[in-house]
Amino acid sequence: MVEIRGVHKGFGTLEVLHGIDLTVAEGEVTAVLGPSGSGKSTLLRCVNHLERADRGYVSVDGELIGYRRGRGVLHELKEKHILRQRGAIGFVFQSFNLFPHLTVLENITEAPRFALRRPAAEAEADARALLARVGLADRADAYPRQLSGGQQQRVAIARALALRPKVLLFDEPTSALDPELVGEVLDVIRDLAAGGTTMIIVTHEIGFAREVADTVVFMSDGRIVETGPPSQVFDAPSHERTRAFLAKVL
Ligand code: ATP
Ligand code: MG
Repeated sequence: MVEIRGVHKGFGTLEVLHGIDLTVAEGEVTAVLGPSGSGKSTLLRCVNHLERADRGYVSVDGELIGYRRGRGVLHELKEKHILRQRGAIGFVFQSFNLFPHLTVLENITEAPRFALRRPAAEAEADARALLARVGLADRADAYPRQLSGGQQQRVAIARALALRPKVLLFDEPTSALDPELVGEVLDVIRDLAAGGTTMIIVTHEIGFAREVADTVVFMSDGRIVETGPPSQVFDAPSHERTRAFLAKVL
């Protein structure tokens, strides 16, 4: 479903990703772990072309992201095409990023209505079903500031799902939350995993990654140094850097 091939990314003279290769099969969950600054967020941002890779490419469901091939070379797509592609790649941020001036319902229906031009009634019915799915059926008319962090993050997940994405990307979805609110967000993600949603989740929640991830990827200094099923990466890491990292976070 997601193919990341030879992705390099730098900012000025700082080389941040040194050739990342990663495949996520349909319905699978990949957890990405690694120390601060190892390039996890940059990698996620390259997947939906929020950052443009310097080399390499990403494809989702067979479609090249951000580019089209023409006469053997890649041409960058126009912004409107990139926006359309991003609709198929849901992104949930650490900091929720809800529109503060819109209600919960409006936050969820905004993109379906105005980007996908779906009829208002249809978008709204869909949004209400999604709110029920994340346990917030009764908060449709609230504003983000009236919700807890955990509730806001669940709205953000519903908003991402409203575009019916082929893959969902999460960048540390629980690390801005008070500890008692982490569980309710992880429950929603767990539910999506059980339902077969393809996901890439950057997280420091080792227990959660162990439970829901099919594959764990450990990044360090812009490289994937280790990848495998949770039992292998967590219980028998083969790389010294993975061991050192796990010793610190476990
Ligand atoms: P964290 O766990 O702290 O979120 P991370 O693994 O997500 O870290 P990135 O945010 O991808 O790491 O950053 C990797 C490196 O790239 C860091 O050194 C960071 O300072 C640098 N970087 C990221 N974005 C930019 C940018 N827009 N301009 C310049 N440098 C950047
Ligand atoms: Mg990050």
